[in-house]
Amino acid sequence: MQIAIGQLWQETNTFNHNPTTRGDFENWGTATGDQIVAEYGETGELGGFVSGCRDWDAGVEFLGLVRLACWPWGRVDQQTHHWIRDLFAQQLAEAGRVDGVLLALHGAMAAEDEHDLTGALLAQVRAAVGPDIPIVGTLDLHANITRQMIDNADLLVGYHACPHLDSFETGQRAVRGLRSMIERGVRPQTTWRKLPIITAAESHNTFTGPPAALYRQLETLEQQPGVLSAGLYMAMPWFDCPQLGWTVIVSSVEPQSHQQTVDELAAQCWTLRQPMSDIKRYPAAEVVSRALAHPGHPIVIGDGADATNSGATGDSTHLLRELLTQQPIPGGALTFLIDPDAVAIAEQAGVGGDFHASVGGAFSPEYSDPLPFRGTVENLLDIEFVLDGHIGKKLPIHMGRGAVVRSGDVTVLLTETSGPGSSPLLYEAAGLNPRECGIVIAKSPAGFRADYDPFVAGTYLADCPGCATPEWSRLSFRHINRPLWPLDEIERAEDADWC
Ligand SMILES: [Zn+2]
Repeated sequence: MQIAIGQLWQETNTFNHNPTTRGDFENWGTATGDQIVAEYGETGELGGFVSGCRDWDAGVEFLGLVRLACWPWGRVDQQTHHWIRDLFAQQLAEAGRVDGVLLALHGAMAAEDEHDLTGALLAQVRAAVGPDIPIVGTLDLHANITRQMIDNADLLVGYHACPHLDSFETGQRAVRGLRSMIERGVRPQTTWRKLPIITAAESHNTFTGPPAALYRQLETLEQQPGVLSAGLYMAMPWFDCPQLGWTVIVSSVEPQSHQQTVDELAAQCWTLRQPMSDIKRYPAAEVVSRALAHPGHPIVIGDGADATNSGATGDSTHLLRELLTQQPIPGGALTFLIDPDAVAIAEQAGVGGDFHASVGGAFSPEYSDPLPFRGTVENLLDIEFVLDGHIGKKLPIHMGRGAVVRSGDVTVLLTETSGPGSSPLLYEAAGLNPRECGIVIAKSPAGFRADYDPFVAGTYLADCPGCATPEWSRLSFRHINRPLWPLDEIERAEDADWC
């Protein structure tokens, strides 16, 4: 049994105007052919594919296509997009005839010249392997499902958890679906429905948030005989592309229709939209003063608008300015900024040297200004670690050079490139201790809770400007289908013809 495997993974924030480049993918590790299983055979969805195929009696031989992944950022530039597609074309040609295809995808990935990179890749793979070979793709729960994806994949299997703690298991579920199709010689019927909704990621918690009960229903549904996949995709909202909105989808090999189930799930989603928009967030000055007044430590502040996990630029200075102003901070404060120029200045100053420069505000000056910062360089190092937790399982992280600079009670980790703003491992990789400090900043709207909740004394959400803000009126959407709630007032989901 010859199974082709590959990965194309990035979440694109189209309001981050800095393009994702070939260098970004190369920095995060590219692999082709046998390298994929050798190097990433235990990582995330790819790890789930390998583990799921291990006990398949038919005996699986993997044919590695391409593994490309990089951290959320702006649209993939045109040249890089064509490089990606050429790489897949070459590897598909080399693989020749296969019995099935497993692809680890995100589902909200766009290039400068392609709104739906996931769908375009699925169409390319379909054209290469022909209509009869089953193709299964895994997706993030924030995928924006398109008709192109549905038309070209036999089965789409998405995360059921936010924070995303189930990437590995999602890979295993994909294998279960592929195996059913191949062993039974059948293809599933897919019933799906778009909903004209986007909601703030702060409300997407599937363990404790409003959608929790829905995800438990999906899990139960997937246990039913014949149901290969049941998904609810809440869509990456900072994705100015056609067909943006939630999607409910059920794929089954049983003859009976799942239309009613999908309609019922969709109706429940529609009633959730209002409760999901009631989120308590505070402006920069207030959120820092609330954190200072909160008993116990550490207190984590989630800056969703600058969330590197949502493709924002990670260089907002709003909270840093307040931390510097509101000193003293018992236990000290920790934050990080993506700022390659500031890293270079710190390198020149050397460990123990004086740092005096503007930091932040360079990648998205429309949301925050550079901030003059004076301090002492405490450490210079490569920021490399292995992510386990939200989004990653055994995922190698490369954020380039890093510099730790301290000013009074405020310590800033400067890095060259973006990475997981949801994880305390980022600070720990730089020798800092987020478990013992007074205030720590997470650049993530929701996922950080999985990794911070176990040790923090309190959690607050900031309301600052940034390209991952849930204040939709601050963003200008041009390519989406309208109407879309809450940008437009809609009484009933059915009133959106495009769905
Ligand atoms: Zn996601």
